[in-house]
Amino acid sequence: MKKVSVITLGCKVNQYESASFKTSFEDAGYTIATAKEEAEIIVINTCAVTANAGAQSRQAIRHAVRTSPDADIIITGCFAEIGARELSEEKELLGRNYSVIGNSKKSNLVQNALTRAESGGQILPGSIKDAKEICRLPVRRFGDRSRAYLRIQDGCESYCTYCIVPYTRGPSRSLPRTEVIEQAKVFASEGHREIVLTGIHLGLYGKDLGPKESLASLLDEISLATPGIFYRVSSLEPGEVTDDILSLLKDRDNIQPHLHIPLQSGDDEILSRMNRKYTTAQFGKIINKYNTALPDGALGIDILTGFPGETDAHFNNSLTFLKNLKFSYLHVFPYSIRPGTVAAGFSNQVTKKTKHSRVAALRNLSDSKKHAFYNSQISRSYPVLVEGNRNKEGLLKGFTSNYIAVNFEGPDSLLNSITRVKLLSLEEGDVRAEIEEKNEG
Ligand code: SF4
Repeated sequence: MKKVSVITLGCKVNQYESASFKTSFEDAGYTIATAKEEAEIIVINTCAVTANAGAQSRQAIRHAVRTSPDADIIITGCFAEIGARELSEEKELLGRNYSVIGNSKKSNLVQNALTRAESGGQILPGSIKDAKEICRLPVRRFGDRSRAYLRIQDGCESYCTYCIVPYTRGPSRSLPRTEVIEQAKVFASEGHREIVLTGIHLGLYGKDLGPKESLASLLDEISLATPGIFYRVSSLEPGEVTDDILSLLKDRDNIQPHLHIPLQSGDDEILSRMNRKYTTAQFGKIINKYNTALPDGALGIDILTGFPGETDAHFNNSLTFLKNLKFSYLHVFPYSIRPGTVAAGFSNQVTKKTKHSRVAALRNLSDSKKHAFYNSQISRSYPVLVEGNRNKEGLLKGFTSNYIAVNFEGPDSLLNSITRVKLLSLEEGDVRAEIEEKNEG
């Protein structure tokens, strides 16, 4: 049987799109090659969010070309979208038959790969800035994970000065509600128990549809249409955390009380130079509103440090602002120059050493906030989506509805199910728990 290998770099949206390529290749009679197996076709779904992600994408391409001299190479994703010139100069690809498929042409990728034998290598760059509709990329099963990602939106029009994504993903386009629900039902019938709704700029969901829709009304309908599935919202910009969404997170049993909100800087001057569209005061109000509605909810915050011109005073403002907020964890990113963005031309780049120490200080703060949040939840009980494999100690593991990493004893019959546990004590960054009631799943 013919084999295909799909290599994925980058975000949840890329992972969803790669799952769709796998589904279509399987439908065409291919099997998915393991990491060690040779494949007739190799798809590399690339990323370009940082210069380093672009370099890793090129590395993955070179590796595939070198180790599989006879395979058809298909390059797609964000690096393929903006790196056509670099690819055409890539020595390893010289003389090699390969295809480049732009992000707006991803729905043609599998068909293109299957007909390549006759047509030879193809370049289908598309024009992402003119894309009007989201690519239709249905998935049958999201690998062997209990949690599936469902891409409901693509594109971003915010043009934050450090970010290349609007140029790689184009304007916001949404998957119509009926198709979202159809995809969720397919995941449910395949045994997935939790779906993470993902997008490039999720809060823009539905604004491009006619009639316009909102993420809140989609969440409302989809959670009622598939009551056996738990939903998580991947990330929302601060201005898009509406009262309707908070009410659903609070009151709907199968929508998890968990949000991830990007702050990026806790200093207003830096926020403005990043072209972020809120002030720290507005952000603080949103976080207070979240914590009032969901006092036990999980709340993650993205923070970028070392943005050009970020002085010690700016950074200290950021750190103090975060210290005074109630949240559960941070995702900390050091700024790096991304060619093609506005900020790449800014002067006063911050040294590596300074970025390193600022990242360390923010990660320490994240650890202590997470510790405090986990501690505040000891002796409470929550549903947990049990993962499909055990931890190193042989215990079952998973995340509670409010995103606490737990480990507990239990039989194999609970793998990939939802069960209720009581939190007992903190243990090396996770929480030791015990099964409280009979399995709900
Ligand atoms: S909101 Fe800003 S950071 Fe996020 S994808 Fe859009 S431009 Fe990039």
